[in-house]
Amino acid sequence: MKGENLRLGLDIGGTNIRSGVFSGHSLLWEYRQEARLADLCHESQPAEALKKILSILSLSIEKPLTQFPEVRTIGLAFPGFIHPLTHRLSLSPNLPGLIDVDLVTPLNAYFNRPVILENDALAAAYGEFLLSPTASGSMIYVGLGTGVGGGLILSGKPHSGEHGVAMEIGHLIVEPGGRLCGCGNHGCLEQYVSATGVAASYGVAGARVPEIAQRAIAGDSKALQAFRMGASLLGIAMAHVFKTLDVKHLRVGGGVSHAWTLMEPHFLSTLNSHLIPALRGKIQVQVSTANDHAGMLGAAMLSDPI
Ligand SMILES: [Zn+2]
Repeated sequence: MKGENLRLGLDIGGTNIRSGVFSGHSLLWEYRQEARLADLCHESQPAEALKKILSILSLSIEKPLTQFPEVRTIGLAFPGFIHPLTHRLSLSPNLPGLIDVDLVTPLNAYFNRPVILENDALAAAYGEFLLSPTASGSMIYVGLGTGVGGGLILSGKPHSGEHGVAMEIGHLIVEPGGRLCGCGNHGCLEQYVSATGVAASYGVAGARVPEIAQRAIAGDSKALQAFRMGASLLGIAMAHVFKTLDVKHLRVGGGVSHAWTLMEPHFLSTLNSHLIPALRGKIQVQVSTANDHAGMLGAAMLSDPI
């Protein structure tokens, strides 16, 4: 591997941190660390939580660097709003207390390599696009995971917006006055079609999405309804997005997308009924085939786009 331009990409999720070493778009090695950062934020004071999170991230970087010391750059796909100029984390709705913090400078200093921080859904969108580009160069990505994120690729480039919150579709309000969201508002899409949202709709303590999907397939109407409600609300939200942006391609990823067959008919019927006639039937929806590598790849490539 000597002489190769190796990049490291971290995908920081709700239950795991995954680190991938990439040569170009090829994943050479992956390290996975179980970490529930939200629990740390709930249990610790913000300063203490930040210290612990930096320590966990350091381990997720150190392990791959031990194997591949020639890695030149490090990209972190992080759940939250990242300011595009300062690269500070402005806010993370699912990691309370982390407000306007700098994760980049300490990691950059410690590992002596360029480190970038990017929104997890935007990194996943970029990774998805690189693995399977669209002819037009434009694509919308929706990540249905612990939360709901979105990413926009325009002319082959990720678009983060002027405040780093472009495509925060998880926080589009689809049920005014509905469930309380980590962002402080009520009725955000994320509260209905994320893993936690589907579980809340199902309403059986301890049931998680894979199990709820199994029950839905087996004929549990309440389980099926939980997916259908999420799918319909996603359809309404995405109709607004497509009418605003007029992009043709939609890629759906994240853990909940593994149950997409349960959701797709309701998603498409709601989407098309809410679209204007010029767009009906024209949106091309594709479920991710990136084996959940897209977030790591996108983060890695954004750390050194050349
Ligand atoms: Zn919200």
